[in-house]
Amino acid sequence: MSDDERARRVGLNEAIFRQVNEQIRDLNRDFGTEEGTMAVICECGNSDCTERLEVLVQEYERIRGDARHYVIAKGHEIPSVETVVEQGEGYDVVQKDEGEPAELSRELNPRS
Ligand SMILES: [Zn+2]
Repeated sequence: MSDDERARRVGLNEAIFRQVNEQIRDLNRDFGTEEGTMAVICECGNSDCTERLEVLVQEYERIRGDARHYVIAKGHEIPSVETVVEQGEGYDVVQKDEGEPAELSRELNPRS
C-alpha cells in the first residue's frame, strides 16, 4: 500500500467513527445530559479499535469545533499523519497534519 493510500484509509476510518460519535452526541443532547460525559468510540485510524472513551459533552463539542481534531485513546495516534495536541483525562486529542490528512478530514467533516 502506498503512503497516500494508507493516509486515505486512516482518514476514512477516523471520519466514520467521528460520524458515529456525532450521533451519540446528538442522542445525549436529546436526553438532556449536556452537562455530563458521553462514551465516544476511539477515533483512531485502526479499524479494529473499538475502545470507548469517557469525554465531557462540552469538551467533545469544543474539540470538534476544529475539523482536524479527533479524540483517541492514549497511544493510538499515528505519527505519520497526526500530532497529539492535547492530553485529557483518559484520552488524547490529535490534530491531522496539514496536506492530505487535513484536507481529507475537512472533506469528510459532517458539519461542513
Ligand atoms: Zn483507537
